[in-house]
Amino acid sequence: MRSPALLLFAVAALFLLDLTSAAQNSKVLAKAQTVSGDRFTVGVKTPRGASVYAVVRPSAAMLNAIDKGLTDLFVVARKDGYRMRLNYSDYTIYIARSDRTTNAAGEYSPDFAVGASQYAGSVYDQGGYIYAAGMVIANNPCTFMIAEHERNFERVSDVVRYEGEHLVLYHNDRRRYAETADHSRGGGHPILN
Ligand SMILES: [Zn+2]
Repeated sequence: MRSPALLLFAVAALFLLDLTSAAQNSKVLAKAQTVSGDRFTVGVKTPRGASVYAVVRPSAAMLNAIDKGLTDLFVVARKDGYRMRLNYSDYTIYIARSDRTTNAAGEYSPDFAVGASQYAGSVYDQGGYIYAAGMVIANNPCTFMIAEHERNFERVSDVVRYEGEHLVLYHNDRRRYAETADHSRGGGHPILN
């Protein structure tokens, strides 16, 4: 029989690890909640191990679409010779409630609304806020936000890949990151090919 004291120590150590990671993420969580106005009370992992926080439990299709987007991202990143932050577990994705579900053309295309200070007066400005398909919340730990989707999951994969491009560049190629981070100065996605 194993020593109860050793077992207790192991359990205590695990508990401490959990507390540490929760403390690291609290700032990021606060920012995600400020940006979206949502409360992210559901935490799950994708099948491949990315962390997902949401308002309601995400569907399997949604989680698989996130994994697909990260897979596509890692393939193009490796092709460009990048090596850092190419693990699913490096990424945290917040799924915000969508603030509109159709685009200007009337197609199903959920976005969330964000205050538009950065984009004021630009073509992205819808009057005080912008609708975003995705947005980087933190470079470290790698965190971005996307909108809830009930269908059109190919778009989820695309948005995941596109937001992930900023994070891969931040950790692998700071000059290229700086050149492509601010879309109000032109440029878009995909950045990596
Ligand atoms: Zn972007």
